[in-house]
Amino acid sequence: MQSVEHFDPDAFAHSSVSGSGVDNSHGVVAASEPGKDGKEKRAFNKLQKRLRRQVGNAIIDYDMIQEGDRVMVCLSGGKDSYTLLEILRSLQRNAPVDFSLIAVNLDQKQPGFPEHILPAYLDNLGVEYHILEQDTYSVVKEKTPEGKTTCALCSRLRRGSLYGFAEEIKATKIALGHHREDILETLFLNLFFGGTLKAMPPKLLSDDGKNIVIRPLSYCKEADIAEFSRQMAFPIIPCNLCGSQPNMQRQLAKEMLAEWDKKYPGRLESMFKAVTNVAPSQLADRELFDFIGLEAKQADLMASRIQAVKVS
Ligand code: SF4
Repeated sequence: MQSVEHFDPDAFAHSSVSGSGVDNSHGVVAASEPGKDGKEKRAFNKLQKRLRRQVGNAIIDYDMIQEGDRVMVCLSGGKDSYTLLEILRSLQRNAPVDFSLIAVNLDQKQPGFPEHILPAYLDNLGVEYHILEQDTYSVVKEKTPEGKTTCALCSRLRRGSLYGFAEEIKATKIALGHHREDILETLFLNLFFGGTLKAMPPKLLSDDGKNIVIRPLSYCKEADIAEFSRQMAFPIIPCNLCGSQPNMQRQLAKEMLAEWDKKYPGRLESMFKAVTNVAPSQLADRELFDFIGLEAKQADLMASRIQAVKVS
């Protein structure tokens, strides 16, 4: 089976940034359309190229997409998922492997949810899509005590619905729009409150073994995605139509990272690199590293050295 190991993110980047630099088949006005000045066009093309390259690299590094995959792209109507779909569509055109994309939106029945926006957008794109209707909003309202944040339960229910639907439509991968900052925020939330050193992996097998989740935006900066989304004029649907406040601790982690990024350029890059570069022998997890067996390892090492001296 051919896999995306053979992807060349550079080739991808060059091949589709020709012409206007943007696929505007969905009719949005982007920066590289006529009327925008050259400097703006160049900046947009550079941004698009960077996102494509980072997504291409993440796909290669984690072997996220393989020949024949049916990738279900979870589309919430936020900047991240629109960007994910757009970048995957553009990579798909030049990919060395054949894969299909199916956009899926879960209509959770929040009051005021503008039901027409995503179908209109997706019809225009010509992408296969499904709108899954499930009233998780009422469940969340009923189960969450007054004044408590609803996002944790809401996300759990959403995940359950989407995972189940992926099986129904025979999707082989579920693509989510989490980016670098989401991963780092999760790392800190787990450090501060969970007592565990874990973040959000770029690729994951669900607990029941039925789904593989991929996060192709793992290497992308949130600021780049926000700017891309702004320039592409995606029809954003706010998440908090349900009236919930954002999770306060996640919000604080986000602000902490943003402040560090401003004050100490390169810190976030270093932290993200650390997530990909773990040294179990320098931590203290007895499951990950055999501290108990060090004496035996030492004895083996000494014995092989003595043997080597005898032979020479
Ligand atoms: S803001 Fe509302 S819809 Fe969005 S995740 Fe939280 S509870 Fe769910």
